[in-house]
Amino acid sequence: MKKKIIVIGAGVGGLATAVRLQSQGYDVTIYEKFDRVGGKMNLIAGDGYNFDLGPTIVMMPEVYEDVFKFAGVNPKDYIPMEKIEPMYSLYYDDGDKLKVTTDYVEMNKMLEGISYNDAQGFYEYIAEIYRRYLVAKDDFIEISFRGPKDFYNPYTIKQTFKLKTFDSAYHTISKYLKDDKLRKMLSFQTLYIGISPYNGPSIYTIIPMVEMLYGVWFIKGGMYTMANAMERLFKELGGNVYLNSEVDEIIFKDKKAVGIRLNGKEIYADYIVCNADFPYAMKNLVKDKEVKGKYTDEKIDKMKYSCSCFLMYLGIDKKLDQMDCHNVFFAKDFDKNIEDIFTGTVPEDPSFYAYVPTKMDESLAPKGKESLYVLVPVPELSKSKENWDEKFVNEYKERILNIISNKINERDLKAHIEFEKLITPNDFKDKFNVYNSATFGLAPTLFQSNYYRPHNKYKYAENLYFAGSSVHPGAGVPMVLTSAKLACEEIIRDDKGE
Ligand SMILES: Cc1cc2nc3c(=O)[nH]c(=O)nc-3n(C[C@H](O)[C@H](O)[C@H](O)COP(=O)(O)OP(=O)(O)OC[C@H]3O[C@@H](n4cnc5c(N)ncnc54)[C@H](O)[C@@H]3O)c2cc1C
Repeated sequence: MKKKIIVIGAGVGGLATAVRLQSQGYDVTIYEKFDRVGGKMNLIAGDGYNFDLGPTIVMMPEVYEDVFKFAGVNPKDYIPMEKIEPMYSLYYDDGDKLKVTTDYVEMNKMLEGISYNDAQGFYEYIAEIYRRYLVAKDDFIEISFRGPKDFYNPYTIKQTFKLKTFDSAYHTISKYLKDDKLRKMLSFQTLYIGISPYNGPSIYTIIPMVEMLYGVWFIKGGMYTMANAMERLFKELGGNVYLNSEVDEIIFKDKKAVGIRLNGKEIYADYIVCNADFPYAMKNLVKDKEVKGKYTDEKIDKMKYSCSCFLMYLGIDKKLDQMDCHNVFFAKDFDKNIEDIFTGTVPEDPSFYAYVPTKMDESLAPKGKESLYVLVPVPELSKSKENWDEKFVNEYKERILNIISNKINERDLKAHIEFEKLITPNDFKDKFNVYNSATFGLAPTLFQSNYYRPHNKYKYAENLYFAGSSVHPGAGVPMVLTSAKLACEEIIRDDKGE
């Protein structure tokens, strides 16, 4: 008889684990709280406009494709992709705009236009960080840390030093580049995983390097195509998904996870995979004190969390010719902006990201119109001095719209908004059970990374596994897909008794 596996949550991590395990002959059932799969990789639609709710930037496309290849199908039949050029446009406070591209002739022209020293520094940065990336990929990201021996051994410790991760991202970049605009160009990306470039470990300078060397991609229909495709494949393989099904508890017997409690009913399985956010799950789903191990409620509260986001989804009844698909707007005072986010103040002068998916796929808005998604990094709720009441949300929206209008020189932008939806940190906490509304999960500080991050195989009880952004290897779709791969490998290893 096929072994039964329950997956709690149909986010990226849950869907990818479910596809992998179902394709290996297990009988997998997903229980998802929301009325649609995808978790933060979700969809907002109205009046003919379509928006991705959360992730928009596709990096490391082969990691996306691997889920489909592993299950024996052709990824091109599920997630057709094309490369985006230019990758993004950067808008600076003085009115300057830089287009960042993987066309190295164009890129070189832009860099040499700033200075030959900076151009040289850029190539040195790429070479050095690429070296570190190969170490990180093979010896840290794609490795599951089960026990101390997997980390505390001479080889891994030697490799740790090769990562040179004790410096901050911004400081590391500054060693290679003198120009402040270029420094920002290569350091704002730590915000993709919700941490400050000034404190975030230097290893995250890998993110812009991955963009530069592997490109940024677009999946036809937007990122939600990926969630849809994984659900489709899972069902084709015979898996079951139950929506509107919020799990209340993981049931343990003799320090073994044996099932879940849902609406007062007990459902049993051989293995449980939890994709619900790790800190939320430890507080709310793992109620048995015997198996909490070091993750007591006090410990969960003391852990460090990534920032949150305020989002605007705007249907614009005209074309925005001034914008590209991905756009980043820098604050006048970037240092203060970052300090505000991580000390609890909603930035008055924020940096933010704007995404216009209709530049790549016109079907995402009515003809001649544009879908505009705006993401502002803001403090997570345990630190935030703001509770996001309606009055504040509307004032903040006005502030951001004024900045965009000025920067893209579109004075009557507000008059062209015919669809609007806003999401605040409260929505992430309440709708998706995101602990503290930290949209990128536990912050990847040095002591919450690699061996020190919660493991994919749970340490304090058997038959329980985790896949998601708060566990190893971390946040962002490619990392969460990797966590699903690792959780799946751990189950297969245990099942074979290895
Ligand atoms: C605004 C935003 C922009 C982002 N941009 C990018 C980007 O451009 N590129 C990128 O790579 N990454 C990006 N990310 C990060 C990326 O979206 C996340 O790392 C990833 O989607 C997280 O997936 P997950 O499976 O860990 O969690 P989630 O998506 O949170 O999934 C967890 C699922 O569990 C469900 N659940 C929770 N509790 C229960 C319960 N008790 N019972 C049943 N179900 C439950 C939830 O409803 C949810 O569906 C972004 C994130 C946000 C929020």
